[in-house]
Amino acid sequence: MKKDLVVPGEEICIVEEFLPVNGAYDDGNGNVRSAYIGAPEYDVNNHLVSVKKLIERPRLPTVDDNVLALVIDVKDNVGTCKIFEIEGYGRLNVLFTGKLHVTQVSTMYIKSLYDVIRNGDIIRARVLNHNPPYLLSIKGREYGVIRALCSQCLSPLLLKGFTLYCPRCRREEKRKVAFKYYIKGRY
Ligand SMILES: [Zn+2]
Repeated sequence: MKKDLVVPGEEICIVEEFLPVNGAYDDGNGNVRSAYIGAPEYDVNNHLVSVKKLIERPRLPTVDDNVLALVIDVKDNVGTCKIFEIEGYGRLNVLFTGKLHVTQVSTMYIKSLYDVIRNGDIIRARVLNHNPPYLLSIKGREYGVIRALCSQCLSPLLLKGFTLYCPRCRREEKRKVAFKYYIKGRY
């Protein structure tokens, strides 16, 4: 009987029926077993069997997911980020590209993204579509920058009241800060 799915070590058939090739092996007792979790593929004409390894598909971002992303490029109208985590699903093995358009920052008019995000920032954003590049929104107080670095010395910026400042350079920087900014300064 032919099987649809096998686990490592599971018997697929006997050597007299099919000879093992990729992903299958002869156990020395005349049985063919699987090396992987996968689907056996039978070559009836040549009496060969192989196992096609099943690769677990990663969870892809989709509409309304909340994600964390690292900002890698900022222009006046559009910022580019690398999505590294979907909230509730942990870190991603693959980084996905996200795009934040200046119109997706606030319900109010924003002139330039430079006042909102900068390279090296980590943002919490909402996903607007289900195909890469993922379009992001940071509208709403729970979205925006959750960690920012000083653009001069790269120290983490502290949140003091509603402004971000660098304790080293003793200067303030503009961002659209999320409600839960990670590093709170002393008031
Ligand atoms: Zn600084």
